[in-house]
Amino acid sequence: MITLALSKGRIFDETLPLLAAAGIETLDNPDTSRKLVLRTSRSDLRLLIVRAPDVPTYVQYGASELGIAGKDVLLEHGGEGLYQPLDLGIASCRMMVAVPEGFDYAGAVRQGARLRVATKYMRTAREHFAAKGVHVDLIRLYGSMELAPLVGLADAIVDLVSSGDTLRANRLHAVEEIRPISARLIVNQAALKLKRDAIEPLLDQFAKAAATHA
Ligand code: ATP
Ligand code: MG
Repeated sequence: MITLALSKGRIFDETLPLLAAAGIETLDNPDTSRKLVLRTSRSDLRLLIVRAPDVPTYVQYGASELGIAGKDVLLEHGGEGLYQPLDLGIASCRMMVAVPEGFDYAGAVRQGARLRVATKYMRTAREHFAAKGVHVDLIRLYGSMELAPLVGLADAIVDLVSSGDTLRANRLHAVEEIRPISARLIVNQAALKLKRDAIEPLLDQFAKAAATHA
């Protein structure tokens, strides 16, 4: 049995067509069932539904041989014990710095001001601003980052942006791209050695499916 861990929502929704292209269907629907272990049309493959930031943890410890996680999540996790052999090209967006309309970000950076930045991506944000030589106080949030500048909690946020609608709705705008983000197939390093015969064909199928969906 091979196990693939992934999160509900956009990762699951965008993974379904890739599985379908590989001839794999899910037998349970995570939106209507409360099951966290989903059977598939292949008796040797099951899916685990976990929270997005938990996917690398399940794979790192070998509770799941495979996983699908956003690069944002992998950067925060650090990638220990994981291979990241395949960019699936799904759930793509950009990691951005955003500020309220009227906030002079470039000016603040030029003057060496100390910025208060709210984010759930502490590691990515810390490395980004350190590389730029910008002094920041990071404020760790778990969601709804767009609110923080509106109520004076922060000068700026670091968050994922796709359409930009959420930023606009909160009178924020993106001022800097940190990096593009998409979801990766991840593999437990030990499992790839021990179960290579079962895992490698799946990796090939995912690679083909991702290439045709690109
Ligand atoms: P929740 O939104 O329920 O708190 P979450 O943020 O952990 O949970 P999702 O919003 O489904 O879960 O995000 C899962 C993954 O999808 C993220 O790790 C990221 O890789 C990607 N993602 C997140 N936000 C966006 C976005 N705005 N556009 C595209 N992909 C995104
Ligand atoms: Mg989200």
